[in-house]
This record gives sequence, C-alpha cells and structure tokens, in this order.
Amino acid sequence: MLDDDCIFCKIIKGDIPSYTVYEDDVVKAFLDISQGTPGHTLVIPKTHVPDIFAYDETLAEQVFARIPKIARAVRASNPAITGMNIVNNNGTVAYQSVFHSHFHLVPRYTDDDDFK
Ligand code: ADP
Repeated sequence: MLDDDCIFCKIIKGDIPSYTVYEDDVVKAFLDISQGTPGHTLVIPKTHVPDIFAYDETLAEQVFARIPKIARAVRASNPAITGMNIVNNNGTVAYQSVFHSHFHLVPRYTDDDDFK
C-alpha cells in the first residue's frame, strides 16, 4: 500500500525521478539526493511503512534479508569503497526527515575523514 502524500511512495510509483540502484518486488534502492559520500544509497520497502516500529515480521525478514546483498553490490561498484555505514533513523528526535522507512547505505573510502 502506498501513500499519496509520501515522497518515497512517489519515487516508487515513478512520479518523482530517482537513480535506481536495485529493485525487486519488495524493495527499491536508489541514490540519496544528498550524497553523504559517493554512492550513498537508500533502501526502502515498496509498501508505505513509516518507521522501524511499524514493520510486521514478514516484511522485516524480506527487507532486512536484502540489505547485505545490496550493500555488497554497492561496494562492488567501486574498488575504492573500503567500508560502509548503514544507518536507519526513526522519529524526528532521531533525525528522521522522511517518514517512509529507509536504510542509508553510506560507502566509506580510505581517508574520507571529511565525512565524520
Ligand atoms: P535525514 O534528512 O536527517 O538524513 P532521514 O534519515 O529521514 O533524515 O533521511 C532522508 C533522506 O532522504 C535524506 O538523506 C535526503 O537527502 C533523502 N531524500 C529526500 N528527498 C529525496 C529524493 N527526492 N530523492 C532521493 N533522496 C531523497
């Protein structure tokens, strides 16, 4: 189920453009519009789930199982990627700004200290 007022649901529908990294029936992965480091990718469920607290077990298993696979693919895209932060913010107090659950995959590069 998608939410007409949600920016990430609009990305899933194709109403807002995005650069797709990976997509299947459960998730979409696309580049963050504000690249923390090159390759910064967001992984979102293809159903409107506001935050981690709203997942049922089945969706959690489906989405979480895909994250390592997508992380490996992002890492494989550039031999200079030597690590990765995976971040999931929940609630305004935790700096969540888009209320469609998403996982930040932030590639790390040797000596990319400016990102800290
Ligand atoms: P924060 O803004 O503190 O990172 P979130 O964890 O909710 O909070 O992250 C939302 C992310 O969505 C931000 O990194 C932002 O750059 C990204 N974003 C917002 N709009 C778009 C868009 N149209 N396409 C791609 N990424 C987007």
